Amino acid sequence: TTPVLTVRNLAIDFLVGGDRVPAVHAVDFDLHAGEVLAIVGESGSGKSVTSLAVLGLLPGNARASGEILVDGQNVLGASEKVLSGIRGRKVSMIFQDPSNALDPVFTVGYQILEMLKRHRPQLTAAQRRERAVELLRMVELRDPEDRLDYYPHQLSGGQAQRVMIAMALACDPEVLIADEPTTALDVTVQREILDVLRRLQQRTAAAILLITHDMGVVADLADRVVVMRRGRVEETAPVQRIFGCPEAEYTKALLAAVPRLGAAHRASTAVPHERPVLEIADLVVEYRNRRGRAMRAVDGVSMDIRAGEMIALVGESGSGKSTIGKSALGLAPL
Ligand code: ATP
Ligand code: MG
Repeated sequence: TTPVLTVRNLAIDFLVGGDRVPAVHAVDFDLHAGEVLAIVGESGSGKSVTSLAVLGLLPGNARASGEILVDGQNVLGASEKVLSGIRGRKVSMIFQDPSNALDPVFTVGYQILEMLKRHRPQLTAAQRRERAVELLRMVELRDPEDRLDYYPHQLSGGQAQRVMIAMALACDPEVLIADEPTTALDVTVQREILDVLRRLQQRTAAAILLITHDMGVVADLADRVVVMRRGRVEETAPVQRIFGCPEAEYTKALLAAVPRLGAAHRASTAVPHERPVLEIADLVVEYRNRRGRAMRAVDGVSMDIRAGEMIALVGESGSGKSTIGKSALGLAPL
């Protein structure tokens, strides 16, 4: 099949105080109909900038080169007229924080109906209302008729994100871009929204470009994965291969950073890449007990900690955890 979205040799620089700062380099990928393609990578690796480029939404100080083809049309350098025919209709986007994306002044119904008026002028008012309810039903919002009269502040974060997804789907786009669609939500709601996305994806033919740094989400939803680091693509592979036999060292590091815990406990998956800020090598700490006998509290412990990293020391009472901490501050008897 021909891809619904093709990105070729995409490079994006930003002009910052007279300097050109490269953000994205030689990025290539295809997105096919019905596919979920995840872009993963550390913060600042260029995921959001890449997705903004697809919608022609790069800020004014950005310079992009290469090709971004949607339905055979190059988005880069396209006129506003061409772009407005693409945005919402062929490619639409849901953002990280739904509370910022909805207009607080208008009801949910008003906002969906206005959007339908703009994109589907041929529908009658009654048909628009029907479509609005249908869209809210698609995102599994309870009591969709009643919700039309709600103002955004009367919705929970999860409900607001459902409304955003409904609006993104209003024109049956070929591509739905979801940039960290659940990180602003609490973990139980994250699960629900991801389930909604998954079911929608199975029901509609839309392709999803899913941006996340959560490898758990990737494992759940993605068909293929683009791994980005520092503005470049490190590896592109089907999800089974990313998890089963990753090629890039960086992919391996990302996977190693995934805690094997329930989703509710999933901690930061930041990948440390700095030199250690604290190195402990073969630490031995002995205390003297009241009778003067040496008691070994820590017996040959080595570890290092990198910038931005959080290390948990766990163990039974008296196993030496606090002593290791005190030693790092020079507060334990050596
Ligand atoms: P995160 O996971 O934190 O969302 P990301 O992968 O989405 O990270 P981007 O937002 O795409 O990262 O940023 C990529 C690079 O582009 C960063 O180095 C960032 O500083 C730079 N950048 C983004 N927007 C601008 C801007 N308006 N002006 C200058 N530089 C920018
Ligand atoms: Mg981002």
